[in-house]
Amino acid sequence: TAYFSDRILQIQESATIAMAKKSRELAAQGVDVINLSFGEPDFQTPQYIKDAAKKAIDDGFTFYTPVPGYLDLRQAICDKLLRDNRLTYAPNQIVVSTGAKQALSNIIMTLVNPGDEVIIFSPYWVSYAAQVELAEGVAVPIMGSLENDYKVTAAEFEAAITPRTKAVMYSSPCNPTGAVFSRAELGAIAEVLARHPGIFAIADEIYEYINFTGEHVSLAQFDAVKDQVITINGFSKGYAMTGWRLGYLAAHPAVAAACDKLQSQITSGTCSIAQRAGLAALQGGRSSADEMVQAYHRRRDLVLGLVKDIPGLKTPTPDGAFYIFPDVSDFFGRTAPDGAVINDSSDLALYLLRDAHVAAVSGDSFGAPDCIRFSTAAADEKLTEAFARIKKSLAALQ
Ligand code: PLP
Repeated sequence: TAYFSDRILQIQESATIAMAKKSRELAAQGVDVINLSFGEPDFQTPQYIKDAAKKAIDDGFTFYTPVPGYLDLRQAICDKLLRDNRLTYAPNQIVVSTGAKQALSNIIMTLVNPGDEVIIFSPYWVSYAAQVELAEGVAVPIMGSLENDYKVTAAEFEAAITPRTKAVMYSSPCNPTGAVFSRAELGAIAEVLARHPGIFAIADEIYEYINFTGEHVSLAQFDAVKDQVITINGFSKGYAMTGWRLGYLAAHPAVAAACDKLQSQITSGTCSIAQRAGLAALQGGRSSADEMVQAYHRRRDLVLGLVKDIPGLKTPTPDGAFYIFPDVSDFFGRTAPDGAVINDSSDLALYLLRDAHVAAVSGDSFGAPDCIRFSTAAADEKLTEAFARIKKSLAALQ
């Protein structure tokens, strides 16, 4: 490692990916592990989307694609943004990427200079801080309060702004908390942004469809700040297409052009077959997503009922996405039957894997060291069994 760059030495492997690896290793030894560490739908990609991908191969979509994506796909994304979000964009404002993850990385690399600060509403998705650090920026997490379902307020946001602030970023619905910003809350955040025209806002809306409140609000809907907002979205969650690696951003044309230039030197246009599948997905509307969302909603209620029965967990009600994110700090300082002391949420996650054979992700990698994240994207029987085991293991802590 002496040969490696400071850049690579400073970042950690994604915690969710690390936990998934550990749980697979245990499963390979024959242990019946229930893996609730994934940020992934447990549904298959809808058949009509798979069929479009097969047809794409037969139709000869096997060549390099335009760097920002096929024009018809970008037009379909514009149509979607108008239909679902009442946002008007032209195809030159869209850059299609290898997952929303690359869309986020593109915009961070495009905006952030060394030393620039990026305010990250915390708890946040694991890769936000690492991507800012890779761009040699400074990640400035600001934590929402448990009483406000971990949602950062406009006043808390404004208080964190300094002359070095370049951007702010958040997800709504939020991974890991499931919190959903209301129109009033985002409106107040937009007012702060309007007072700071040099600050960009990266609005990660990848869980848009998985929302139990009935209303998704896009920050870009507030006209005064639309040009400051970069909307991130993708196909992984709503269409159960994680493996296809397809996401996009929508932004001011100059910002989109800069991301296009960056992507042209790194990956070029993303996979031709995935893009044809994405076009079919959008043309099919959101009815396949709506069916999955019913299941996520039911499981959310199921799991909330199960955790209510477990003393020591403080769990806000998630309004979207497919996670619960309880505060587990009541267990810190206690000792497990095998003698191990639980000092923090990583110790607790490892204990639950060892003792309950349930994989979860500790909150520190989401900027919330008192918490732990469980995915609820699993079959009802698995969830019921998992939380019964968790209850037993937690009760065994002295
Ligand atoms: N943003 C958030 C909040 C996520 O949870 C994820 C995936 O877990 C992503 C972005 C990246 O999604 P994609 O699969 O499109 O790269």
